[in-house]
Amino acid sequence: MIQWYPGHMKKARDEIVQTLPRVDVIIEMRDARLPLSSRNPVLGELRQGRPCLIILSKKDLADPVATAQWISAFEKEEGIRAIDAETHDRSIGDRILTICRKLTPENRRRPLKAMIVGIPNVGKSTLLNTLAGRRVAQVGNQPAVTRTQQTLTLGKGPGKMDILDTPGILWPNLADRKGAYRLAVSGAIKDTAMDYREAALFAAVHMMRHYPLLLIQRYGLDTLPDSPALLLEAIGRRKGCLLKGGVVDDHRASERFIHDFRTGQLGRISLERPGDDDLQNPDPFDDLDDDSPADKQDSVTDRPV
Ligand code: GDP
Repeated sequence: MIQWYPGHMKKARDEIVQTLPRVDVIIEMRDARLPLSSRNPVLGELRQGRPCLIILSKKDLADPVATAQWISAFEKEEGIRAIDAETHDRSIGDRILTICRKLTPENRRRPLKAMIVGIPNVGKSTLLNTLAGRRVAQVGNQPAVTRTQQTLTLGKGPGKMDILDTPGILWPNLADRKGAYRLAVSGAIKDTAMDYREAALFAAVHMMRHYPLLLIQRYGLDTLPDSPALLLEAIGRRKGCLLKGGVVDDHRASERFIHDFRTGQLGRISLERPGDDDLQNPDPFDDLDDDSPADKQDSVTDRPV
């Protein structure tokens, strides 16, 4: 069961609605590993045709081939540019300024205003700190940590750009079950609100389908197990996640697998790729047994506090 208690969702949205009229360009952050599920569904409507730079964060964790495909897909839309980034990279400020300037040629003679928006845990605070060259926003490896108001400036004179105060926090769409699992696996959903076993089974299906060699290499497997449940069991055994009597501890094995995924120890993996079957039709859980806990229909809830 994945649960999410977003709180303040309406307040955050209202703040963005109030701020946007003052903004020339929107900097939208999405997770490079899941650029569709990590977007906010209302931003398209709030954007109202404003120029937008999409930053695909955590590029160091994502499959570079998929990321390049996403960038060209996004840039087909008028007024949108996309880049991938490792948000600690100090060269990012210059790139952002150059692109935002190009996106708004009509404003050449005056400073620009921009706003960073994105879902919790996508890397907004890390980016702000990198741009500022010092710690201005609190970074957390748990979602929903960014709270303080900040302003910072890139460049100088009329060519400068002010990035408005708080990063705008918008929430992802959790009504889409597969999207919610991708968010859980990536770490965008608080660990206390997710079931490791279900998230791990979901990730196992994806990895077996798209990155089997990485699994075999990472866990020293002779062959790929026949099912996601058997894969997790094999991982548990390899990593010594055992209960008394040598039985695999499902929870610890699942935790270990998710941890390896999130920290890049399985390799650079994307959970979404343009044109993937997964994005159109089959539910990755179709590959699981009928009695899998992950088959429960109501396993994702989206409840404001
Ligand atoms: P926010 O909630 O959007 O402000 O996200 P944070 O900036 O607090 O980042 C959430 C987590 O993602 C932190 O643990 C960061 O260290 C990590 N993170 C941010 N950007 C990157 C990145 O480009 N690569 C990797 N590997 N981790 C990142």
